[in-house]
Amino acid sequence: MSLYESTPRLDLPSLPNFKQLSKTVWRVLGLNPGKFTLQGTNTYIVGSGKRKILIDCGDGQPDYLPLLMHSLKSIDPDAYISDILISHCHTDHCGGLKDILSSEINRPPLDTSSSFISSRQYQQQQFINIHKYPLDTDKGWYKVFWESLKELPDDTTFSDLKDNQVFTLRNEKDKDSPPLHIRVMHTPGHAKDHCAFYLEEEDILFTGDCILGHGSVAFEDLHDYMKSLQRMEKLQPARLFPGHGDVVEDSIQKIHQYIAARRVKENQILDILRQDVRVHWTPIELVEFMSSNGSHSSSSHSQSSRKREYSEPLAAVAVRNVGLHLIKLYFDGKVELTNLADYRKRHGKDLDPYHSENVYTIMNEKWRYIDTNEHNNSKL
Ligand SMILES: [Zn+2]
Repeated sequence: MSLYESTPRLDLPSLPNFKQLSKTVWRVLGLNPGKFTLQGTNTYIVGSGKRKILIDCGDGQPDYLPLLMHSLKSIDPDAYISDILISHCHTDHCGGLKDILSSEINRPPLDTSSSFISSRQYQQQQFINIHKYPLDTDKGWYKVFWESLKELPDDTTFSDLKDNQVFTLRNEKDKDSPPLHIRVMHTPGHAKDHCAFYLEEEDILFTGDCILGHGSVAFEDLHDYMKSLQRMEKLQPARLFPGHGDVVEDSIQKIHQYIAARRVKENQILDILRQDVRVHWTPIELVEFMSSNGSHSSSSHSQSSRKREYSEPLAAVAVRNVGLHLIKLYFDGKVELTNLADYRKRHGKDLDPYHSENVYTIMNEKWRYIDTNEHNNSKL
């Protein structure tokens, strides 16, 4: 079962289920539209010859597999998938593996009638190479995502992606056409294991969930995320093919927009905290204040010690993002928790409030701006 709802997004341009996007790339929708998945997860078939690489494979919607098979055959009746590259461990990008592995897509392109393997072996064998960036799957959220992959046959093997690793695709039909190269870029931030893929010959960057076709992205570590965006900025690709949403033609502008949006948010938070450094704020209060366009006075607002929980998923994302901004700003030496001793008393002395994995424990914690002047004076 999918962790994600499948609700059409009427507020976004509709995308066809299957479309050729460039000379060597086709997009197949994962058929899982929703609040966070936009028009659904994009999966991409790449390759100029019979051999294709699939980037991501949706969340396992029942109609995805027939769509993928039909799409593949309509590109070329002899086309086959030799490798699947998983951009990151979230279920909407790898939940479709099980169906693919148990389908006829996971069969060798050769005529096996003359081969020595038994039909049982043939049915069970894994012919598609699956590649993903290695993860410590015993910890935190990753355990949850890993659990969802457990539905795969026990002997399913994964190859570890490495940063800057290159996949080469040759066109067997046309020996004179130059090979294609897909370069792996480890781009953590949205998820620790997140990778983008750069198709060198077409100057296309498959951005996974680092940059989307519409709206903004949830991230789990802002420091890493900013570094990943800057790496994409440096690459200057011609076009972005995101994990969700339509192709981005104005790629540089989009990357700049993402970087600027985070900086604006960071400055907004700092401005509020600096207004009156004696006033301390929780992430929830900051989001409420910012969404009311700062119409309340900061001092009266933060006097409130109300504890709130957000059940609305998008508001919860906003609060989490502000929490992650505060953690980044802590490492920049600009903010800190107001009462660390009290936090430790409540959460245990080993829980680190400044670790992005523990962001949910700081939603109702007060933060303050570190006035460097005051700091320097106190040290005298
Ligand atoms: Zn996603």
